[in-house]
Amino acid sequence: MLELLLPQRCLACGRSGSAVCDSCLESLPAIEPPLCERCGNPTTWPVLRCAECSGRRLSFETARAAVAYDENVRAIVAGWKERGLRRLAGTVADLVVAVIPRPPVEALTFVPADRTRLLERGHHPAERLARELGKRWELPVLGTLVRTRPGPRQRGASLAERRRNVRGAFAAKHSPPSVCLVDDVYTSGATVSASASALRRAGARNVTVVTFARALRLR
Ligand SMILES: [Zn+2]
Ligand SMILES: [Zn+2]
Repeated sequence: MLELLLPQRCLACGRSGSAVCDSCLESLPAIEPPLCERCGNPTTWPVLRCAECSGRRLSFETARAAVAYDENVRAIVAGWKERGLRRLAGTVADLVVAVIPRPPVEALTFVPADRTRLLERGHHPAERLARELGKRWELPVLGTLVRTRPGPRQRGASLAERRRNVRGAFAAKHSPPSVCLVDDVYTSGATVSASASALRRAGARNVTVVTFARALRLR
């Protein structure tokens, strides 16, 4: 595998040694309370809904992310997703369990891969992360969600476009009443909300979302 042949350099600072060096690992921007109870946006004090999510129909009960999607985290996610550094999934899962308490659910599931991207990458980061989290939290991982059509690239799309792109784009074969949906990055929440709504149609009553990173907007 290519990743074993290349000398490892830290994706964030370029120092040689490992894919993410210890000092970059320690300085990643963990998302700590107070948070918006619903969407996990950091807030000045705990709130049930925040400026970002109020008035939006979200199909999940609560979303939590481990780190803010800043420049370093972006570089780590890009290396993990695009450059095939699959082993980073374990490092990413360790960061998630260090920040986010184990959700009170019966099983984990993940946002399904787009076929084209799965073939390009040869791995599906959200599934990898879900499986690593399943080991750490001792929860079963269900591959229950499927895409009903190819996923357009969401990068650069407006919030309205993102919502339109993913509406009805997912279906679930079955779901336990309470389930945790795993994805790599929470950007607008449109993808996880559309996936959560498919889980609800398949029987879920309570959908918790967990992601590694979260885009933060101005408060
Ligand atoms: Zn570094
Ligand atoms: Zn919110």
